[in-house]
Parts: sequence; structure tokens; C-alpha cells
Amino acid sequence: MDIKKIGVVGAGTMGNGIAQVAAQIGCDVVMRDVKDEFVDRGLKSIDRFLSRSVEKGKMEASEKDAVMGRIQGTTDLGLMKDVDFVIEAVIEDLDLKKSVFKELDELCRPEVILASNTSSMSLTEIAAVTKRPDKVCGMHFFNPVPLMKLVEIIRGFLTSDETVTTTTELARKMGKITVEVKKDSPGFIVNRIMIPHMIEAIRIVEEGIASPKDVDIAVKNGLNYPMGPFELMDLTGIDICYFVAEYFYKELNKESKWVSPNLLKTMIRANRLGRKTGGGWYDYNK
Ligand code: NAD
Repeated sequence: MDIKKIGVVGAGTMGNGIAQVAAQIGCDVVMRDVKDEFVDRGLKSIDRFLSRSVEKGKMEASEKDAVMGRIQGTTDLGLMKDVDFVIEAVIEDLDLKKSVFKELDELCRPEVILASNTSSMSLTEIAAVTKRPDKVCGMHFFNPVPLMKLVEIIRGFLTSDETVTTTTELARKMGKITVEVKKDSPGFIVNRIMIPHMIEAIRIVEEGIASPKDVDIAVKNGLNYPMGPFELMDLTGIDICYFVAEYFYKELNKESKWVSPNLLKTMIRANRLGRKTGGGWYDYNK
């Protein structure tokens, strides 16, 4: 299928990044959020990123203008009626995602693929509210979207091979490396690996074996990871680690390995959530 116009639902952190990479491959983009201020914030964020690329000499000013010119910000979901592909990136709330997919299913042409950027929700369950479950899949980008290479393509129970192929081709056109997640399962690949890695790091600190700083130094230099688990938690949000661990515990047979360490709960009670609150495992106020 020839994809010329892409609909992005949600103009937040992920939505505006996805709109940007879609426009950078020459597609027209309709980026929808619920309030004008959220749409404007999304557009400003893209403008800022592209301006920095121009300053660094990575992009011509004329190209930046062309990319911005291809992105139409709106609060009107009705504009999705003539897009060729949709990527949903609203907040991580299953009921909200289901209602958005129901509306999209009614609005979009029947052949249009509806992809979700969900980090954890069941694609099978989201697809079930539509009349096209074969054309629903996960398209999981990573933050920041323009810089992170990976996209996980996730199959729901009824996702067709054609949907996976088209979505994979689109992600590759955006310059991404893709992997196929053959079964709709909590955390897909990356988060399923990342959460135990974070939990174990916290347990090491809780048991008094080493400090967060030394765990990070060990992981970076002994495993050749670019960031340590504590640095990563501060970046992504310590509360997010907790919510995902709780979700895995519930969905993955209540295995003890998913039980949140007390220290993780204490950090949240103390509002030490990471960079976003000025401090987590490290301080950022200085
Ligand atoms: P965000 O809070 O930054 O943005 C979400 C946006 O969706 C907000 O601007 C909100 O106003 C908007 N929204 C809410 N209801 C809407 C509707 N009905 N129509 C259109 N827009 C609506 O959140 P985010 O970090 O961009 O996350 C979006 C999705 O991407 C979530 O499913 C999240 O799990 C996933 N995700 C996030 C990350 C990350 O690191 N932030 C990484 C991968 C995937």
C-alpha cells in the first residue's frame, strides 16, 4: 500500500516524535490532540528539535520548513478520514485507547492499518473493539523517537501478515530497525528484559551489596551498556518502573521475580521519581 498521509493521535512526547519522523520521510501528517495548547506544544517540540538539527548543520533550513509544512496539527479527529495509516500515541489508558480505536475504526477507510504505540497494553484487546482486528498491530517506538533506532512490531491475536509487513516497511522507511513480537505479551521484548534488570539492581542496593553509583559503573563497564539501571530509571521515571513491575506481576502468573522491592515503593512515597522531580537515585537540582 502506498502510504502518503499518516495520522498520529496524541501530540505528547511520543506522538510529536512520531509525527516528526513520519514527515521527515516525506509523508503528510495529521497530528491530533484534545486541546489546542497540547497540539501547539507538540508542534513547538518538533520545531525545537529540527532547529537544533539546522544549527548543528545536520539539516538545511529549507528542509526544516518543508518538514514542518507537512505536519498539520488539529483537535479534529474527523481529519483522520483520509489518512493512509494511523499511529495512536495517547496516554497509556486501556479504556481511552479502546474508545480512540472505536472512533478511528468508524472514521478511517476500511483498508487503513491502525497501529498503537502502547508500551504494555494488549493489542488483541484494543483490536477487538474494531471491525478490522486483522489491521491492528503494535508499533512501539522508543523515546526520543527521532533518535532511538528500534521499533517493536507487535502482533495481536488476529493481526494479518500483510499488516505486519506494511508496518515493518513503514518503520524501516523511517530509518528504524524493527523486530517482530510474534505474540501479544506484557512488555514485549525490551521492557520484559528491562524491568527485571532494574528490579535486581534495586535489590542489590537494598541488600547493602553496592551503591547505585557502583552498580551503574559495573553495568556500564562490565556489560558495556551505555547507561546503568539507576541512571535509566531516573530518566524514564522510577514510578513507571513500579507501575510496569506491578502490571507484569498481575499478568505474568504472579511470579515472585516481579514483586517490587520495598526500596522502590519508598522512593515513590518520597516523590523521588527521577529527573522529572529533580531527584531520584541521583540529585539533579545542583
Ligand atoms: P504524553 O502524556 O506525553 O502524551 C499523550 C498525549 O495524548 C497527551 O498530549 C494527551 O493530551 C493526548 N491525548 C489524550 N487523549 C487523547 C485523545 N483522545 N486524542 C488525542 N490525544 C489524546 O504520553 P507519551 O509519553 O507520549 O505516551 C504515549 C504513548 O506512548 C503511551 O501509550 C505510552 O505508554 C507510549 N510510550 C511512551 C514512551 C515514553 O518513553 N514516554 C515510550 C514508548 C511508548
